[in-house]
Amino acid sequence: MSREVADAGEREVVVYATGLVVCSVCASADMDADAVEAAVNAVSPTGISSEWQCSSDPVFATGEPQPGPCDRLPETRRHWLMEC
Ligand SMILES: [Zn+2]
Repeated sequence: MSREVADAGEREVVVYATGLVVCSVCASADMDADAVEAAVNAVSPTGISSEWQCSSDPVFATGEPQPGPCDRLPETRRHWLMEC
C-alpha cells in the first residue's frame, strides 16, 4: 500500500496488488474500463499471451464494489480488479 500512497495522484494508474492472474489497480476516476486496460497493459504487461482486462466481477475479494472508490482519494480515483 505504501507504493500507492506515493504514486496516487501522480500517475494515471497504479498497480497496488498482484496475483497470478489478477491484479488490483488504482486509476483516475475519469478513466473508463478501456482506458484502464490500455494503461495497465502499458505500465505492467502480463508477460503472457493474454492481456489485462477489467474483471466482470462486481466485487473485490474483500467484498467492496468493483470498480469502486479509492480508499484514500475517493473523489478523484477508483479501484479496479483486473484479470488475464
Ligand atoms: Zn487508490
